[in-house]
Amino acid sequence: MDFKDYIRVIPDFPQPGVLFKDITTLLKDAKAYRAAIDTLKDQVSAMDIDLIAGPEARGFVVGAPLALSLGKGFIPIRKSGKLPGETVEASYDLEYGKDRLSIHKDSIQPGQKILIADDLLATGGTIATTINLIQQLGGQIVGAAFLIELSYLNGREKLPGIEVVSLMTY
Ligand code: 5GP
Repeated sequence: MDFKDYIRVIPDFPQPGVLFKDITTLLKDAKAYRAAIDTLKDQVSAMDIDLIAGPEARGFVVGAPLALSLGKGFIPIRKSGKLPGETVEASYDLEYGKDRLSIHKDSIQPGQKILIADDLLATGGTIATTINLIQQLGGQIVGAAFLIELSYLNGREKLPGIEVVSLMTY
């Protein structure tokens, strides 16, 4: 299956000059969504994983089904102020804009092996911050899985030593 056939590219969203890769057209197609998660599952099958973590909101639609299919638990990483328990937080820059992410302090035990999942790797700022939060809790990052990688933004450079898998590259 060519997954790119299911991605809609929308120019000038959310601001002029950005070519936004819309994954909602893949998500609404049951076969394509299933095939995407199954393929990511195959790509990470050699990794020794305790838990999957993903940043809101599109990291949930990749990370949660991947966690279920791998038989692992899922840790939501959320925008500041959304998680009800005690959290650790970190600020980050997006391809456009700035934000702050948080994780529940008790969600990871030191030494647990974590696979990060998100829909798309752009500059790598979101994932670098996700890694920062997981490492603050003593988690060990074993890999990062994405539907899409924008290779021209060099996000991989922010993930040295981490195995990165992605279904589609632009
Ligand atoms: P980064 O932090 O790597 O620069 O940006 C990646 C984050 O921004 C991801 O969480 C992703 O959801 C969002 N993002 C940035 N550009 C796009 C895009 O073109 N399409 C989608 N679906 N998400 C994007």
